[in-house]
Amino acid sequence: MKIDTIQSFIPPTRILMGPGPSDVYPRVLQAIARPTIGHLDPAFMTMMDEIKVLLQYAFQTKNALTFPISAPGSAGMETCFVNLVEPNDKVIICQNGIFGERMKENVERCGGIAVMVEDKWGAAIDPNKLEETIKANQDAKIVAFVHAETSTGVLSDAQTLCHIAQQNNCLTIVDAVTSLAGSPLKVDEWGIDAVYSGTQKCLSCVPGLSPVSFSERAVNKIKRRQSKVQSWFFDLNLLMDYWDKRVYHHTAPINALYGLHEALLILKEVGLEKSWSLHARNYRAFHAGIEAMGLSFNVKTSERLPQLSSINVLEGINGEAARQHLLLEHNIEIGGGLGSLAGSIWRIGLMGYGSNMKNVLTCLGAFEEVLQDMGAKINQ
Ligand SMILES: *Cc1c(COP(=O)(O)O)cnc(C)c1O
Repeated sequence: MKIDTIQSFIPPTRILMGPGPSDVYPRVLQAIARPTIGHLDPAFMTMMDEIKVLLQYAFQTKNALTFPISAPGSAGMETCFVNLVEPNDKVIICQNGIFGERMKENVERCGGIAVMVEDKWGAAIDPNKLEETIKANQDAKIVAFVHAETSTGVLSDAQTLCHIAQQNNCLTIVDAVTSLAGSPLKVDEWGIDAVYSGTQKCLSCVPGLSPVSFSERAVNKIKRRQSKVQSWFFDLNLLMDYWDKRVYHHTAPINALYGLHEALLILKEVGLEKSWSLHARNYRAFHAGIEAMGLSFNVKTSERLPQLSSINVLEGINGEAARQHLLLEHNIEIGGGLGSLAGSIWRIGLMGYGSNMKNVLTCLGAFEEVLQDMGAKINQ
């Protein structure tokens, strides 16, 4: 590549219907384009306070320690683990997809002991298995799991899993990256101690921020730590001072936070419960169209995520080639399978701003055309 030929980057127009990022609200893009001000400017600080209040609403929590980490969802995950897990702490991880694997990696890097409870990829976490494992590991301190597994399109029963953890005196770390704003999530009512999310899934904001929230029990464990948090950047003791007392820690991603503020405001305007039901309604329409074509889902009905569907790749069809056709001929991005599901599923997202009837119909029409062109036998 010759440097002299490089020009301003103009992205192609796409419809983002994969596992994230989702299409960003135009209002969010407009907010991000507003002039940058200082991150210690009083006007900016007021906006930060509003983000906290809006996030408490989105998470349904009164937790004082609720704010966005200045990095993507994976960093929210890391923040939870590096602060809550001390060397030799035993952590039970319920795994039913790729993100549970990352939790294990996090625990081990913190010097903790990960006890895995494994479920099939494509199935929800079995609460009975957690109960058995927790009984057999009375010294466990934390239970961690993914609420909405984006790698498979599965929703687990977070409320029941948290209840089991609480009854056995364990704290909970819950990955709500894909569930926030797309499926019911009630941090206080369900007794979640540490939760992290992302901005680029059902919030339809730009990627790069990770909203987190910690209960008082979680904060107490962090305050009682014997050893220093191994990460300087994600040490909540320092971040608390930044968000509360404005002690300089790092320069906030100012414009991205304008975007998050706008996305959370939109969520408040729509209403949280309405947002959940809109995701469910658009999924039902999509589901009807997929089944009418003769395609099938990889997850049983009761465990499906409305915001992300796993569709089985048809026999004799190259799933990756179909994805390429959708992108290059129809400008629609969808996802493929990860890990053991690579090549055997398509992952189609209907998240946030992208969860609407126009996208449902556009995607079904384009999908039908692509599959027919590839010689698939589908119903018309
Ligand atoms: C997308 C996702 C993440 C990672 O978020 P990034 O912003 O890509 O770092 C973690 N967990 C789940 C369930 C996700 O869907």
